[in-house]
Amino acid sequence: MRTWEECAQFHGHKCPGLAIGYRAAVLAMEYLGLSDGAQDEELVCISENRACGVDGIQVVTGCTAGKGNLIFHMTGKDAFSFYCRKSGKSVRFVFLGCKGSQGREETMQYILTGPADELFAYKEATLPLPEEAHIFRDVTCAKCGETIPEPLARLENGQILCLDCCTTFHDF
Ligand SMILES: [Zn+2]
Ligand SMILES: [Zn+2]
Repeated sequence: MRTWEECAQFHGHKCPGLAIGYRAAVLAMEYLGLSDGAQDEELVCISENRACGVDGIQVVTGCTAGKGNLIFHMTGKDAFSFYCRKSGKSVRFVFLGCKGSQGREETMQYILTGPADELFAYKEATLPLPEEAHIFRDVTCAKCGETIPEPLARLENGQILCLDCCTTFHDF
């Protein structure tokens, strides 16, 4: 399994946030029976934030945005769900915070070495996993001429438009 040092190298610095992601990923690999280091394409992570911890998860689990097995579900919580498609097992870790510890270094050490069930609440994941990658038809935007996958196209006054060209598109 990848080390804390490797996570810090990838992330660029050591911080408590990175430690949360690293520790959650290590615990998840153990929980799902994948701690032998085999980085499994069948593993999927849903992260509920885009903070430092995500880098630790990418290094330890091998889940990345580019491979499509790192997905964001933005509640802003310090919570990460892990799914093993092969076994059907899943687990969601929610960071409980550091009660009573002081200082950045001390907090980080506590997250790295403290008892798992003081650090995280964990139970079976409840967020549904998206189906495996669909191949979508491409269409061309009538205004800018750029190519977009069909589900991201909008229809305005009878024209097929991309999200940037569509004047009535609102990013909710
Ligand atoms: Zn950081
Ligand atoms: Zn366009």
